[in-house]
Amino acid sequence: MGIASIISEIKKEIGESVTLVAVTKKQSIDKLLEAYQAGQRVFGENYVQELVDKAEQLPKDISWHMIGHLQTNKVKYIAPFVQLIHSVDSLKLLQEIDKQAVKNERMIECLLQVYIAEEDSKTGLEIEDLEATLEAAKSLAHVKVVGLMGMSTFTENEAQIAKEYQKLSTLYEQYKTVYHLSILSMGMSGDWPLAISCGSNMIRVGSSIFGSRL
Ligand SMILES: *Cc1c(COP(=O)(O)O)cnc(C)c1O
Repeated sequence: MGIASIISEIKKEIGESVTLVAVTKKQSIDKLLEAYQAGQRVFGENYVQELVDKAEQLPKDISWHMIGHLQTNKVKYIAPFVQLIHSVDSLKLLQEIDKQAVKNERMIECLLQVYIAEEDSKTGLEIEDLEATLEAAKSLAHVKVVGLMGMSTFTENEAQIAKEYQKLSTLYEQYKTVYHLSILSMGMSGDWPLAISCGSNMIRVGSSIFGSRL
């Protein structure tokens, strides 16, 4: 199947209530253009430099999401145009995003990435710091925390993945009314149907749309 048909299959399955973020990391501009021509407008990238380069080369009506680990000293490069940052894992990072948003006279929407996996390699806020971070974010006038994001453990064990996604979903349900959250970003190529069954409304899919990475 080509990129256009895969996208349309996924969109048919997820319906209107779930957003598909096409993950661009290590994919060629040609493939991304193919997705664009198939109507895809939301793209997510892991690396700041790639995000800036790809945004420059592709049409301007794309909504660019930052989904990879973000260092504070690189926020300034994406602050002028990024639509959503999924990977906020500290208050310090949130404060820097606020500062850069002020410089660019805009409001930047963010998700707090929560550490839900049972392995050391994944980043994110510890669950016990989540509420304090949501609370502190209220005083930053130029960032808006609109939801939560999580990555599950890299495993074939679906029960474990479901348990981790369920954990994040419960936190989302717990906080969504008080903190006005509307986005729960979880699910990738291998597990997005499971993530949606656990409550996800934004999935980040790369390799099953574009094939294996360069
Ligand atoms: C790479 C990546 C994805 C997409 O992974 P695939 O398995 O290619 O769909 C989603 N989210 C994040 C944070 C990623 O780094």
